[in-house]
Amino acid sequence: MAVLITDTCISCDACLDECPVGAIVDNDDNPTGEDVYYVYKDKCVECVGHNDAPACADACPTEGCIVWDEVGSSKIEKEDRGEVGDAVID
Ligand code: SF4
Ligand code: SF4
Repeated sequence: MAVLITDTCISCDACLDECPVGAIVDNDDNPTGEDVYYVYKDKCVECVGHNDAPACADACPTEGCIVWDEVGSSKIEKEDRGEVGDAVID
């Protein structure tokens, strides 16, 4: 499981330096060629062993920009971090 960054990203770069494993790249380095920020699924460890909660979601100033790919459109609710498997679907 990994996180996805949606097209509501405002390219603020806040998440880039927060990721402990360098899983996030900006649109220029997106391997899919899409003009959005990208999270490498094989690198993202959900911050396990690094932070108590996903650092990218914590740093992101938007609502709903970062989602868990396993649950589709579910948002990471900041108050629900740590209960990723039970992510709330609005
Ligand atoms: S959840 Fe953690 S490891 Fe995964 S992309 Fe976000 S900051 Fe990086
Ligand atoms: S912190 Fe959020 S809005 Fe800023 S670049 Fe990362 S995903 Fe985009």
